[in-house]
Amino acid sequence: MNNNKITALQKNIFAKGESASGGKEVDLFLITGINNIFYLTGFTGSSAVLLVTKKDAVFFTDFRYKEQSAREVTLDCRKASSAKIVIVKNSLWTEITSHSIFKGVKKVGFEYSIDYSTYEYLKTKLKGRKLTPLRNKIEDFRIIKNDYEIATITKAVEIADTVFSSITHLIKPGISEEEIAVEFEYQIRKNGGSGISFQTIVASGPNAALPHAIAGSRKIKTGDTVVFDCGAIYKRYCSDMTRTLIIGKNPLAEKVYKIVLEAQETAIKAIKPGVSLKKIDTIARNIITKAGYGKYFGHSLGHGIGLDVHEPPKSSPKSEDYAKPGMIFSVEPGIYLPGKLGVRIEDLVLVTDKGVKILTKSNKCAHL
Ligand code: ZN
Ligand code: ZN
Repeated sequence: MNNNKITALQKNIFAKGESASGGKEVDLFLITGINNIFYLTGFTGSSAVLLVTKKDAVFFTDFRYKEQSAREVTLDCRKASSAKIVIVKNSLWTEITSHSIFKGVKKVGFEYSIDYSTYEYLKTKLKGRKLTPLRNKIEDFRIIKNDYEIATITKAVEIADTVFSSITHLIKPGISEEEIAVEFEYQIRKNGGSGISFQTIVASGPNAALPHAIAGSRKIKTGDTVVFDCGAIYKRYCSDMTRTLIIGKNPLAEKVYKIVLEAQETAIKAIKPGVSLKKIDTIARNIITKAGYGKYFGHSLGHGIGLDVHEPPKSSPKSEDYAKPGMIFSVEPGIYLPGKLGVRIEDLVLVTDKGVKILTKSNKCAHL
């Protein structure tokens, strides 16, 4: 699945005459984000650091991952003959900062997400070199999914769809939010997922008005809306979907549900290559605003997904991203009425050459 990703990164970051993020050129990029390291090398362990220069790449991990890294890691850089895996013997960062790859390096780029203690350490150890934070350098590559990634995310979506339809019969008066979440999470593992992509949200009644409530001890009652927001992980890739169910009769919930559904479906229909994700957000937001609920839709319309459950691009009033073939992101408008109810409907969509494909297959009927 590697596809010369380090080489592509080298071409982008160290291109002649081109500067790295913010116009600050770097000679070496120090990569610490474990999902970025997986993306670039194929390594599935939990501890590693990757250094990339214009031509070279060195991968550091410790003894625990000696066998695994030998099996998994591909360093497909421009000068593949000198790329290597280093198994550190003592302190990871001492061995990294004293490695010969730093010879002649004056400007070191590091990932913006690095922790502060590591940054402090680097500042001391790499004294005399300029340290530059680089934001979303690898995430920007990850925005466009290749065929393998599309197939893997589609499988993660399928697993969540299958499990959701197999447990919806449990969602009835008397069962607690937690019990539903636990069953969902167990079934995800039983159905081939390696885990859940985030803590499952089962939010009922007034809890449904909290967009990021987690499942608690509240028992479902007649007249509730139940917001069920869930995702599976398959081969490290995430899925994310939300369905809202109305338990019994609730005229206000029916009304709100229709508005959210119209906003969601209209926004999805407008997605095609070249359309701005700000515009997609506006389309959904206008429908909700015109219906009188604008101030009850306080979050962005959608987010990219892949190795992380939230990653670029973003579909929001401030988004500067444009839809491109290979992007996968969520479309998830919602209306939240404090103390009363909440409704959110979320699908993952794939931008295709001609338009859009909805990956999430669970039906959008509010009643069981
Ligand atoms: Zn979600
Ligand atoms: Zn989402």
